[in-house]
Amino acid sequence: TIPARHLSLRTPIDGRHRRMLIGGEWRDAVSGRTFETRNPATGAVIGTVPQSDAKDIDLAVAAARRAFEGPWSRFKPYERQLLLLKIADEMERHWEELALSDTTDMGMPITRTLANKNRVLGMLRFYAGMATSIHGQTIGNSLPGEIVSYTRKEPVGVVGAIIPWNAPTAASIWKIGPALATGCTIVLKPSEEAPLTPLLIADLMQEAGIPPGVVNVVTGTGAEAGAPLAAHMDVDKIVFTGSTATGQAILRASAANMKRVSLELGGKSPVIVLADADIERAVPVAAMSVFANSGQICIAGSRLFVERPIYEEFVERVAGFAAKLRIGDGADPETEIGPLISPRQLERVSGFIADGAREGARLVTGGERITEGALAAGNFMTPGIFSGVTDGMRIAREEIFGPIISALPFDTLDEAVKRGNDTPYGLGAGVFTRDVGKAHQLANRLRAGSVWVNTYHAIDPAVPFGGYKMSGYGREGGTEHLEEYLNTKGVWIRT
Ligand code: NAD
Repeated sequence: TIPARHLSLRTPIDGRHRRMLIGGEWRDAVSGRTFETRNPATGAVIGTVPQSDAKDIDLAVAAARRAFEGPWSRFKPYERQLLLLKIADEMERHWEELALSDTTDMGMPITRTLANKNRVLGMLRFYAGMATSIHGQTIGNSLPGEIVSYTRKEPVGVVGAIIPWNAPTAASIWKIGPALATGCTIVLKPSEEAPLTPLLIADLMQEAGIPPGVVNVVTGTGAEAGAPLAAHMDVDKIVFTGSTATGQAILRASAANMKRVSLELGGKSPVIVLADADIERAVPVAAMSVFANSGQICIAGSRLFVERPIYEEFVERVAGFAAKLRIGDGADPETEIGPLISPRQLERVSGFIADGAREGARLVTGGERITEGALAAGNFMTPGIFSGVTDGMRIAREEIFGPIISALPFDTLDEAVKRGNDTPYGLGAGVFTRDVGKAHQLANRLRAGSVWVNTYHAIDPAVPFGGYKMSGYGREGGTEHLEEYLNTKGVWIRT
């Protein structure tokens, strides 16, 4: 049941066909092909969108190039700032539609998609603020004679953005915001699993008055639309969020024209709970570090290292917390845990659970598919925790991307650091302790792009976010983020 106040005409839950935005026009794919997108809570088709291929990507990149070289290049920083602020206002006015669109297309509980408003709009307004703060430097040189040297910061050009399905609104804004602030144009390819909200965002951007071709949203699969975008010779930069395997493919494809690449990839983040931690506070935070969004979070703290004296108690408490979570259709405001994105993802996560049991871990609670009752048609699984996990098990090494925690005991701080870092990934890490010295030690020694102490998931547009190791490179948020969308030019003038 969807609360009536969340419904409006624009909300894409009515099964109708939606077109994509290329060069300021709503278009179908050149081939005329389409694909369906479904509500993961019910299995119902909620819309069809164009299935693009290389021909559509060519059109979108050409439109983005024309805009970049044409009208958009004459927009002053202050004008770009005003436009971004206008888009943010437009999105704010339609936030309930955006929230419901994400909930119906990818399952995230409506309470969360509604609550994300300040975070996402804060990002957009942060980039708006940055648009007028982009500047080069005058740099003294040691050449003979009078030669002035300075740098200019210039937009890299046409940006291709490829995003996953687990947070479509936030992911779209993290790409569009910095691209527009710096004066780039963009071709955004949403995930085929959740294409509707990015199209709605494009619609709102049109209403805010964005010039044709500055933002293009092209729907399609990774193989047919993502790959040609990554390989395109006229794209200057690719920004990608998704799995590490796809990141590697994108990096290879980008070599053809040496385009700039930034990658926000997968993780297997450690959460380290010391015996002196405030257990009462740590349990819900550690649990929700994974269970929020049904575990489909890149920074999920899916390896839970607990110091041995409190290990059993902590695992029991997390299991108790998990068992009480309310599972259901994300559109119901009572729901705390929504569905997984697809039957395929449900199958994948079930495979991990079978492997965990086979390798000798003990499933304390959860990890069950819901096959009866009102939720049977959706992709639901109860949140779970494995105890007795060892470092070599598949459930301790690979990203599950489902509501499953692997709990591992440890004895010393050095051991926790060594084992915590023993992963090809390095996206996030959590620490729970009352000892400030140990907190600093762990924050310094854990090899991850974000370390949270006595909290988790804190993200702010002013603070850089990104990966170490195979979790990718480049940062989103913070002042350095804009650098990723800028070229630096040295200019020399003999006076
Ligand atoms: P995915 O890699 O399967 O797909 C991501 C996007 O890439 C989709 O739009 C897809 O169509 C496209 N794609 C697939 N193959 C492609 C190819 N060969 N060339 C170009 N594009 C291609 O990831 P997913 O399943 O949608 O998302 C889950 C993954 O994303 C997880 O690994 C998760 O950790 C990661 N993720 C990371 C972050 C982060 O900030 N680090 C955030 C969210 C999700």
